[in-house]
Formats: sequence, C-alpha cells, structure tokens
Amino acid sequence: MSDNSVFPGDKIASIEEYEAGHNTFDDGDMVRASTMGEKDLDKIKRVASVNHPKMLSIPKVGDVIIGTVAAVMSSMIAVTIEYINGKPTTSKVECICGTRNMRIRNVALVNDIATLKIVAHLNGTIHAEMNEPELGIIFTKCRKCGGKVVTMRDAIKCTDCSWIDERKLSSNFGKTNFIHLRE
Ligand SMILES: [Zn+2]
Repeated sequence: MSDNSVFPGDKIASIEEYEAGHNTFDDGDMVRASTMGEKDLDKIKRVASVNHPKMLSIPKVGDVIIGTVAAVMSSMIAVTIEYINGKPTTSKVECICGTRNMRIRNVALVNDIATLKIVAHLNGTIHAEMNEPELGIIFTKCRKCGGKVVTMRDAIKCTDCSWIDERKLSSNFGKTNFIHLRE
C-alpha cells in the first residue's frame, strides 16, 4: 500500500480546496473516498478523485479491444472500449483509430461495434488500428433505415431497404461469439 491508498470514508481534501471527483463524495466539509483506491489530487483543476484499481483497465500496446464507435470523424474514429482481450472493462476509456488511408466509403458508423488492436499510447491518447483481417467492424446497421445488414462480397446490404454500403468489416463479422475472440 502506498501513501496514497485510501479506504471508503477517508478524508482526501477540504471542500474549500478541492471539488469531489470520481469515487468520492462531499460531506459538506471534506471530500471523502467512496471506494478503496489511490487518492488523486488534481492541483490544476482542483478536483480530488480516487482511482479504483479495477477501473484502471487501460489496454496495453498489442491488446485487442472490442468497443462501441462513439464518434466518426473525417480521418479517424473514436471507440469506447468495452472489452480488453475478451474481458469486460468498466473504465469506458476511449481509443482512436485512423481511417485516412482506407478506401472505404463508411469505415464505421456511430454505435457500430469494432475490434481494434492497440498500437500506441501518445500524449494520453490510446491509438488503435484495424488493418488486419480479424480487425474492424463486427456489428453494424443500415445507414439509411437502421435495418439488419448482410455481407455481399466486400460490401454490406440492408435486408430491409436493400441499400448497399461499405464498412471495414472484421473477418468475424456476423459471428455472435465475438467476445471470445482471444480465448
Ligand atoms: Zn436499410
């Protein structure tokens, strides 16, 4: 246990100095820990938090993650990580994946589910790639009507409105046991 270890109810800071952040509460006088973990005082933002060990599940380089596409930008997508190497995570950290070099019309849509490989941690951002066959989208819907899609060679086709579209599909697209990919 380090000097920063705290137990639930422990005083972390005075509310005059710090706001209550993650895993803490404000008892009207002090910011106190609501969980066991490591105390984290952000002296710039003046926020006192506790980092719970189980919530610090940050993927390492080489890990394969499964997550929900949170945002699609012109040259990258942001993905909220739900599984790391097949194990569920509650930390909800995001990674980004560059899509600039992919000649695909709609690499991913928001709320698609993607499998990515972590390639770097740069300036606090987790970078991932989807340039291997098993990486890419494992669940998506029709962009026009939200209907179910099936694969057609390299494309996908909506079973409701017949709209044909593209995604960077994983070779595991359409398999329901995607959570066990790495087992
Ligand atoms: Zn459709």
